[in-house]
Amino acid sequence: MFKLLKKLTASNLVTSSGLIMLLVFTNLAPYSFAYASSAVPHQTQSTILTSAEVTAKLALADSKKRQDPALFKKLLVELKNQPSISAEQLHTFNFLTAYDDLYSGQYNKSKSKFKRLLQSNANQLVKFRANYLLVHLATMTRDWQDGLKYIADNVVLSPKINDTESSQNNLLAIIIFYNHLGQHQIALYYIERLAQKNLSSRNACALKQQSLEAKFNLKILKLTSNDFKAAVNTCINAKFLIAANLVHIHKAKLYLQENLPKMALRLLLHNLDGVMATQYPSLIAEMNNVLAKAYLAGNDPANAEKHAKAALKVNDNMSNLLQGVDTYALLYQLAKKQQNLSNALYYLEKYSNAEKAHLEGEKAKHLAFQLAEHNAFEQESQIKLLNEQNNALAAEQALAKIQAANKKLVIVLLSIIILVLAILGTRLWHSHKRVKELAEFDPLTGILNRGHFTQLTQSALKYCQSAEQDLSVIMFDLDHFKKINDSYGHLCGDWALKQVTKACDIIGRKNDIFARLGGEEFCLVLPSCNIDVAIHRAEACRAAIEAIITEQTGCEFTITASFGVTDVKRSGYDLDKLLADSDMAAYASKHAGRNRVTIHQVPDESKVEELDNAWVL
Ligand code: GH3
Ligand code: MG
Ligand code: MG
Repeated sequence: MFKLLKKLTASNLVTSSGLIMLLVFTNLAPYSFAYASSAVPHQTQSTILTSAEVTAKLALADSKKRQDPALFKKLLVELKNQPSISAEQLHTFNFLTAYDDLYSGQYNKSKSKFKRLLQSNANQLVKFRANYLLVHLATMTRDWQDGLKYIADNVVLSPKINDTESSQNNLLAIIIFYNHLGQHQIALYYIERLAQKNLSSRNACALKQQSLEAKFNLKILKLTSNDFKAAVNTCINAKFLIAANLVHIHKAKLYLQENLPKMALRLLLHNLDGVMATQYPSLIAEMNNVLAKAYLAGNDPANAEKHAKAALKVNDNMSNLLQGVDTYALLYQLAKKQQNLSNALYYLEKYSNAEKAHLEGEKAKHLAFQLAEHNAFEQESQIKLLNEQNNALAAEQALAKIQAANKKLVIVLLSIIILVLAILGTRLWHSHKRVKELAEFDPLTGILNRGHFTQLTQSALKYCQSAEQDLSVIMFDLDHFKKINDSYGHLCGDWALKQVTKACDIIGRKNDIFARLGGEEFCLVLPSCNIDVAIHRAEACRAAIEAIITEQTGCEFTITASFGVTDVKRSGYDLDKLLADSDMAAYASKHAGRNRVTIHQVPDESKVEELDNAWVL
């Protein structure tokens, strides 16, 4: 163990409180040389393990890596090159070998193994553990920027980590890192967070020691504080004597600050044997350094020089620069006091070099921290920007949704409008049809009314005239219709009108123009029909009307009509004349006793014959 610590110290890597870190994570018992002396056994791995055995051995190695380094190393050898090892198991194995490298002082090897794990598809817990051990490594090697990066990475991962021990180790690594970086306020923040957890006695001791260190450097630690006693008790209870002694040294430093060198001396001398027994070089150097300061303050230059030189002997390569600065300053003061100018010059030079190196180191820390803060700010700004972009995107999506909904709404509305228009159109068409029907047909009988009759007859006349064809007109009027109305009621009269229409309509042709001219007066125009056909048709109508059976009305009566017939030969192609002549003929029928057909008589019948002959081809 001493060898390893010496090696670490010699490699300018470990400061006195940096030891805490190594000890916290390895649980090396003082006086035990187990870790350093237990070189990896060189036995060749022979047994082939099943997957379950690999899992079991990995778990055992993980749990024993702190308490039993020899067993840990043995297990790693057994697990090496196992053919049945799964990808996941291999990640755990690589993690453990990286851990082994770290505590064997092979930092570069360890660092690259942990970094490879971060790049792999290892699970989050393995990556989380690799990250905090890299933080730990960064503290040891003073790669401040690296450390800050791994801390930031674990801040992201930690909410997903359920493993209590790993979470606590992570916080402890962060605390130690920030205390080393000189960011004690941040260290205190994490100390408060970790203090709320249920800690092992060893971690509780480390936490209390780190808390004292942060408070001491922040100059908020008071000699009256109970923290010293609590820390010492916890550390003794955890058998973590180095940490307990570091607490004593802090208290001694505080005594010196308060100008109480005797108290400092008493405390230091009381624990000197204990410190020497730990064999930890850095702690011993620190003890001697503070002792030298105490002696100097207590006006005992001889002892001051003795302990300063003892401190320098351990810290001769300036592994602890701050301590070195102190020691050289002290030796310079002593030499000056003794008026040993060459020594004074020598130590002044050493002091100034150490201080320069120390300041440069401090500058590097400050720069790294500033850079990390700047990166964090940039990251935050970038996150903000991304959030804003996300919000804009979300708004765009919402807008697109609204637009799509609006489109749908417009389509639905248009469909409704089209449907309504279609319904309205159909209704309009129906009502238009109805209006047209009302305008063209007699509502009671359903045959043409006078207006439309006139229109159609005029066209028929025009056609027949141009085609030199016949056209006959039959006019008829119901006989004593008033009497029917009077005797059987108006409804019965209406019924009679409909029956008459029906009877005559059946007899007619498709081309005939049949109309109710008004009241009980009807007219039948027969295009392309001569007078004989017309007479025949009129007679058929007359007979049909007379044959109407009225029983179903509940009254018995006879319906008859008087007919008048004419044609274009007798009346010409003038509608008014044709109607007047046929009406006159009907009137003649009335006069002759009703229920008969009368042909319009022209004064000069020979003219008609003449016309008839002229048309015969
Ligand atoms: P004539 O044989 O001389 O023609 O006698 P008439 O009673 O038929 O003649 P008149 O012109 O005096 O009477 C026609 C009657 O027809 C009068 C009117 O009450 C009746 N009338 C006219 N239009 C309608 C109708 O739409 N329905 C009914 N029920 N009666 C009608
Ligand atoms: Mg009449
Ligand atoms: Mg009449």
